[in-house]
Amino acid sequence: MAKSKTNEPSPSDNSEEAVANVKEEKETKSKKQSEEINGKSNQNDVISNSKKKGAQPTIADMFEKMDKKRKLESGNDSKPQKKTKTEEIKSAINGTSLQATNLPKRCTECRQYLDSPDLKLFQDNPIDAVEEFVMLTDPRLSVFDGDYDTADVTERLQYKITQFSVYDRFTHLCGFDQGLIEKDIEIYFSGYVKPIYSEDPSSEGGVPARNIGPIVEWWVSGFDGGEKALIGFGTAFSEYILMNPSEEYAPFVSAVQEKIYISKAVIELLCENEQATYEDLMNALDTTVPPQGLPTFNEDTLLRHAQFVVDQVQSFDSAADENDLILITAPCMRALISLAGVTLGEK
Ligand SMILES: [Zn+2]
Repeated sequence: MAKSKTNEPSPSDNSEEAVANVKEEKETKSKKQSEEINGKSNQNDVISNSKKKGAQPTIADMFEKMDKKRKLESGNDSKPQKKTKTEEIKSAINGTSLQATNLPKRCTECRQYLDSPDLKLFQDNPIDAVEEFVMLTDPRLSVFDGDYDTADVTERLQYKITQFSVYDRFTHLCGFDQGLIEKDIEIYFSGYVKPIYSEDPSSEGGVPARNIGPIVEWWVSGFDGGEKALIGFGTAFSEYILMNPSEEYAPFVSAVQEKIYISKAVIELLCENEQATYEDLMNALDTTVPPQGLPTFNEDTLLRHAQFVVDQVQSFDSAADENDLILITAPCMRALISLAGVTLGEK
C-alpha cells in the first residue's frame, strides 16, 4: 500500500524558512548557554518559548497569570505590577478589535464567508411547494389507506425525500454534517417527498415541499452489510430517508458520502475480522469499490475522516448486545486513533 506522506511535516517545503529556523535555533541555543552560565536559564526559556510560538497570550491567560502573581507577591509589590498588566491587557484588546474589523464577514448561522464564491443560495423552490404540515396530510403520502385505527401514532412517520437541498434561514446552501444541528442552528430542506416504499429517485409523483424542518437530527444506517448506507433527517414531526440531492446540492452530499462509505467499509471489515491490523485495513480499502461518483479510497481518505470513522465505530459498538464483540479495540482502530490523534468522544 502506498503510504502517503501528506500528513508528515516537510521542512524542505520552504527552504528559506528552514534556514531561518535553523538560524533561530542556533541563536537560542547559544543564548541559552550563556544564560545558563549566568544561572538565568529558566526565565529565558519562558521568554524564548512565547516568542517562538508567536501566539499572543489571550486575555484569560493574563488574568490567570495576574492571579498567581498576586497570591505570591507581598502587598507592597503588587501595585506597580498591576498597572503594567492592565496596560498589557488594554493593548491586547485594541489588537483584537482591530483584527476583527479586517476579517471578512461570516454568516451568523452557517458560518460561511459572505463574500466567498463558494457560498450558494438555494433558489430552486417549485412554485407549488407546500409547508411541511400541509405536505404531511397529502393523500399521496398516506400509507394507511384511510384506516387510521391500525396506525401506531406514537411513532414518527417515515418518508423519503428526493431532489433535496439543505440551507440555513438565509437560504445559504450548507452541509448538514458540519455540526450546525448540534449547535442548535436551524437548517431546513426542500425537495419532493415520497412514500417510504418508493424506489424512484425522480421528482415524479413526489409532493413538492419547502422549508421542511428545522432538522433536529441526522443519522446513518446500513453499516452492517446492507448494500447501501442510508442517511436520514429527523424533524419534530417526521423522519425522511434521503434519496438523490438536487443538482446544486450534490457536492455537499458527495462530501458526506465519502466519509460514510469509508466508515461502512471499516465496520464491515471489523465485523469479518475483529483482529484486523492497520495493514489489513489498508488492503480492504484498496479493494473497496466506492459508490458511483466517489474517488477510490486510500490512506489519505481514511486519515482525513478518522474522527468520523472512529465516532461511527463507537456508535456501532454502543448498539451491540452483550454477545457482540467491541470493534473499537481492534488493532487497526488503535493504530488509526493514535496515527490521526483522534479523540474518543462520549457519543
Ligand atoms: Zn448562512
